[in-house]
Amino acid sequence: MSDRARLETLLREMGGQGYRAYRSLKGTWDLEAMTLVVDHVQADPFASASRVRLLLTPDQTALPTSILATESRRWGVAALLARSFARRAVRTSRSRGTGRSGEIRMSDPGQRVLPQTAVQVDADGAVEARCTVGLPARGRRVAGDDAVALLLRDLPTLVHRTLVARAHELDDLASCAATNEDADAARAALEALGLVAFVASGSILPRLSGVDDRPLERGTVPFESPDTMRVEIDLPNAGTVEGMGITEGVTLIVGGGFHGKSTLLRALQEGVWNHGPGDGRERVVTRADSQKVRAEDGRPVSGVDISPFIDGLPQGHETTHFTSENASGSTSQAAAIVEAIEAGARALLIDEDTSATNFMTRDLRMQRLVPSRFEPITPFVDRVRSLHDDLGVSTVMVVGGSGAFLDVADTVIRMETYHALDDTERAREIVDDLPSRREDESSVSVPKPRPRRIRLASLDPSSGKRPRYVRALDDRTLRYGESTIDLVALEQLSSVDQIRAAGAALALASTWGGTLALGDLLDRIEDAIAAEGLDALETRTSGSLAAVRRLDVATVLNRLRTIRVD
Ligand code: ADP
Ligand code: MG
Repeated sequence: MSDRARLETLLREMGGQGYRAYRSLKGTWDLEAMTLVVDHVQADPFASASRVRLLLTPDQTALPTSILATESRRWGVAALLARSFARRAVRTSRSRGTGRSGEIRMSDPGQRVLPQTAVQVDADGAVEARCTVGLPARGRRVAGDDAVALLLRDLPTLVHRTLVARAHELDDLASCAATNEDADAARAALEALGLVAFVASGSILPRLSGVDDRPLERGTVPFESPDTMRVEIDLPNAGTVEGMGITEGVTLIVGGGFHGKSTLLRALQEGVWNHGPGDGRERVVTRADSQKVRAEDGRPVSGVDISPFIDGLPQGHETTHFTSENASGSTSQAAAIVEAIEAGARALLIDEDTSATNFMTRDLRMQRLVPSRFEPITPFVDRVRSLHDDLGVSTVMVVGGSGAFLDVADTVIRMETYHALDDTERAREIVDDLPSRREDESSVSVPKPRPRRIRLASLDPSSGKRPRYVRALDDRTLRYGESTIDLVALEQLSSVDQIRAAGAALALASTWGGTLALGDLLDRIEDAIAAEGLDALETRTSGSLAAVRRLDVATVLNRLRTIRVD
């Protein structure tokens, strides 16, 4: 008897039995359209749904291997398959009883194209997809006929419509592959060109809304590079592409309110990730070692040397090992910068909209009124040059409100009704015409951050009886052990699967024991992912992990209130 017939018989016989009977489904079933592997069976119809893997052979997918030659191409195709499966599952799967009965779900990758575990494509065209299915119940009893319909009809139909070549236009598959390979190639080219970021002409930067990451459709002005900033990058598929290159150093984005400054910066911070064809930002790439930093009052800080920015707090509060349960706007922003550099950032992305005003600059009148010995803050404007000249850390920042930064800028981009203009020369003339009347408050250069050693036991992910409790509650909150970590300020880490991966990475590190310098801890996590893929982070197979950078793992670690550093 075929596996398919055996499974059908088993399910029908199970009908009416207690829900636990479903546990006998665990294992591998060779169905005609695919192999079904049941990894985990839910305890009851209301519990988290059962986890299954769908394995398709090259014959079953018929994906053309000619478009799958590189890893980067395969991730581009995988994202398309995952997106179509996830969305179709939401649209078509229907309730087949109590609780989650009948529900088929997969992580939706959204606009980003990342290595992830929901759908993986091999060079030969084989596909592994991971999803959850709610095994059908009437009350708390097995609904056998519904289970047959779910596993032997709904699921294969869904696979047929989403995970195989015939479900898609060949052009779409090929373009997802090529676009992703080009994006990786463009990002890889930046460093040698001395660039922090590249924004191809024709890119569409604005989004539908603050909560909808799809491109704005109406009245959109496509990006165009100013002539003086134009660079060309050779891509494996698109050929030579031109656009604006943002060079290393200090770059200002200025312009009137509502003229597109923050939109450009957001595209740059998002450019550390790839995007699919049609997103509008598929040729906006930023170096992976770029970190968005912002003020985030209320966050915890653990043993960070913020003294280059803030020193001599009232009552002798220590700033070389600054620790706080409830940092202020300026101390949180200072900590974010030092932490980012410690974790390996070579470029900072900053928007005045989310910065602490007193951290950024102070004018002459305030310098007169408040003597510097009573002002703990050395404003960023007096530090940003040294960050680049001494530490090699570039800054790209939006400043519409303060001309003080013109003195320290290498490049000034002015946004005017969504058009980017190179105003570097004009800014220099203005600086000569109207010398700044403020005093530079920095005396020594910014030192390299002192590497903190993390006590790995303080990353303990246990909660109550559970040895490892790591849950992304939504796209801004991670439950980690006994702690709840607020990630709302981490704009570059905004997907649930990425948050889960960052949490899983810390849980993995907690098992190593002893203490490790933060940089070494991040190296080891990167090595583990490079060797075994994202599955290295989890103890069980999960279809809900997406790639994170070392900088992202560090940002989550730095917001964990329990960490202890030496
Ligand atoms: P700023 O930071 O300069 O105040 P924003 O970047 O917030 O301005 O942009 C203001 C508004 O303009 C936003 O609603 C944004 O969606 C829209 N916008 C930005 N860039 C473009 C563009 N290229 N085409 C059309 N609308 C845009
Ligand atoms: Mg703005």
